[in-house]
Amino acid sequence: MTADSLDVWTQIAEAFPPVLPRQPVTLCDCDECRDVQANLGNLRWNEVLPPALDKHFGSLPLLTDDAFQALLPAYLFRALDDLSEKNKILEWTLYTLCPLSEEDEAATRESDAKLRKRIPKFTDQQRSAVRAFLALASAASDLDGHHQAITRAISAVWL
Ligand SMILES: [Zn+2]
Repeated sequence: MTADSLDVWTQIAEAFPPVLPRQPVTLCDCDECRDVQANLGNLRWNEVLPPALDKHFGSLPLLTDDAFQALLPAYLFRALDDLSEKNKILEWTLYTLCPLSEEDEAATRESDAKLRKRIPKFTDQQRSAVRAFLALASAASDLDGHHQAITRAISAVWL
């Protein structure tokens, strides 16, 4: 982790108390969601082990709103660990935090609204920590491809 990443991480760790998400952490009964419940359920963000995250790098969208808020720091920690395009957890976390539709402006606005509805319980301190994370990711030259989506999400979602 770089000094900048560490600063952002400190902000995240202070903003998100390690709370146990309400159970179950997924609500659907498909194999993937049951697998997420088995590996990420009953854990606080500081108890999630790296192999579980590596396995579920793209699972943030499957989590309930409560679990999304409780477990997001586990994903952000691994994302900050290596701010490069090779980091799959970073890539998929950015897709989740910064929805940008391939289709058109209306579809993107719809995704923004959907995500905003998911995060009403995020405190100002938590939103500000997420914005700090996004700003840092946006500044990484390696992540140019995400720049537009990040800039948009900072101003349209993570207020
Ligand atoms: Zn499912």
